[in-house]
Amino acid sequence: MKADNEMSVKDYFLLPKTPRPDLKRRIAVLDQVFSKYIRLRDADSRGYCRCITCGRSEPWKEMDAGHFVSRDRKAVRWDERNVHAQCPHCNRFRAGMQFLHGRQIDCLHGRGTADMLMQISRARIKVSLFEVEHHIVAFREKTKKLLENH
Ligand SMILES: [Zn+2]
Repeated sequence: MKADNEMSVKDYFLLPKTPRPDLKRRIAVLDQVFSKYIRLRDADSRGYCRCITCGRSEPWKEMDAGHFVSRDRKAVRWDERNVHAQCPHCNRFRAGMQFLHGRQIDCLHGRGTADMLMQISRARIKVSLFEVEHHIVAFREKTKKLLENH
């Protein structure tokens, strides 16, 4: 017989969802790791990046990792095709020059990629801590490889 203090499966699922304070903190870490990776990926052998939208060339540390579809859309927030080295001026003051960024994405990753990213971004996904940790490890590894080859 079931004890009174034992919780049924149904009760368990009715419990209020516990907040995940860790998740926000780890997403912030992932954003930093990802941004560094993108800027190094787009840098030349001297460590300079060309802005995806205006072509200005600056040291990677002075560039932003500019999103084509906004970071708010989690489905493409860490999609490498959606993010490129961009000068702070274009990224912050010219609304990311989204149209031009989209055209460049099609040149770099194939025609229709920008549209596809837009479509993917409409999915309302919930990011799990597991997924975030996985991305952190993966992008740190990719960054390490880039630095070895620079
Ligand atoms: Zn620019």
